[in-house]
Amino acid sequence: MTFTLTEPQADETASGARADVLDADFYAFQNLLTDAEQRALREIREFLETEVRPFADDHWDRAESPRHLVPRIAELGLYGEAFRETRSFENSNVFRGWVAMEISRADPSTATFIGVHSGLAMTSIAVGGSDEQRAEWLPVLARGEQIACFGLTEPGHGSDTAKGLETIAERRGDEWVLNGAKRWIGNGAFADVVVIWARDVADDQVKGFLVRTPSVGFEATKIERKQSLRTVENADIVLTDVVVPESDRLQRIDGFRDLAVVLRLTRAQVAWQALGVAVGAYECAVAYAKARVQFGKPIASFQLVQQKLADALANITACIGMCVRVSQLQDEGVQKDHHSAMAKAFVSARVRETVALCREICGGNGVQLGGQEQLGIPAGYGIARYFADAEAVYTFEGTYDMNSLIVGRAITGIAAFV
Ligand SMILES: Cc1cc2nc3c(=O)[nH]c(=O)nc-3n(C[C@H](O)[C@H](O)[C@H](O)COP(=O)(O)OP(=O)(O)OC[C@H]3O[C@@H](n4cnc5c(N)ncnc54)[C@H](O)[C@@H]3O)c2cc1C
Repeated sequence: MTFTLTEPQADETASGARADVLDADFYAFQNLLTDAEQRALREIREFLETEVRPFADDHWDRAESPRHLVPRIAELGLYGEAFRETRSFENSNVFRGWVAMEISRADPSTATFIGVHSGLAMTSIAVGGSDEQRAEWLPVLARGEQIACFGLTEPGHGSDTAKGLETIAERRGDEWVLNGAKRWIGNGAFADVVVIWARDVADDQVKGFLVRTPSVGFEATKIERKQSLRTVENADIVLTDVVVPESDRLQRIDGFRDLAVVLRLTRAQVAWQALGVAVGAYECAVAYAKARVQFGKPIASFQLVQQKLADALANITACIGMCVRVSQLQDEGVQKDHHSAMAKAFVSARVRETVALCREICGGNGVQLGGQEQLGIPAGYGIARYFADAEAVYTFEGTYDMNSLIVGRAITGIAAFV
């Protein structure tokens, strides 16, 4: 059978997905993008549909980052999140969010790989670096010549890093000496530069350091047997008397408040990324429901299946609206921490519901990588990867609980973290 997500159109990608229209965009939010942005999106979609999605299950299965894609991703300007100069048009936050959603729609792991390098690490340098540091690092990272990662979480501290961070930095003349451990660091197994967040023993403030690898005393070990976002190579990192020159301390970071600015910006992007997981899952479920026959009919013809699809699409539609608005607030320069926190919490919770509904539609084949292929549905349109990946996206960049508490503090004026 010929696989198409929708009626065939002139502008189709190799897999049959249309490059001009996103069917899950029920209220046509994409029309908010400029013509130049929509043209760029078409090019990015074509790349994702031909070079990323068809191979995503295999990479996930082998738990290996597709590093061969790094130059192609750079060519498309996708590492330009914090580096506006890489695009000739306005490059609004709505557009950049939409791009994050599209990447995640094809493969949430690839979106996370880019999100860590381009979002967390490059934004740390863009926000916290001196002019010299920005000039040294951002172009190199935007071209994908070096890969960066972001080391905040520790074995003993995830949600409570603001108060609990145990990695320490001690100044000795023109150098700093770092000691401590980090956990779950995306791209950490192979990154060329690691943004390490550590507490200055002199003033107790959290500071950011650019640790170049390899460095004496720096050890990164890939975390094995992960069951979500398997393609992302996360690492446990140990720092034993790692020496960093003062010139590699992020000069505009002086406390957790400055780090919170980075998270405010990246969290909104992560909400878009979460949305992409739901869109990818929804597309798998629609394709499967049309192809799978039971009781002599496609299961898409049953009312209960249509109800699930309608609920999934309603979730997605609400989430696109929320993501668009939070990015517009960012474009207007009025976005606050609680705006991003609400988007990340709400969207990732709806995503969890959506992937579960969509997985249910795919029956037993929905728990196997490639289980849909026997129905003629191509590689990359299986639900199992999206279902598993939703869990990590729900958890990182602040769990649902922590982001809800940020919103709760904004509502009541009372911090209820402890
Ligand atoms: C795939 C993956 C990639 C990641 N990538 C990175 C990365 O690149 N860099 C990085 O620094 N980190 C990264 N992380 C770490 C991630 O940010 C943390 O896992 C996350 O912040 C949660 O921390 P934790 O796992 O220590 O859970 P914990 O903080 O131990 O939380 C466990 C549970 O307790 C709840 N909880 C904790 N405190 C409270 C409270 N006060 N009130 C109510 N509930 C509470 C939490 O919501 C959660 O449900 C990644 C994690 C994963 C899984």
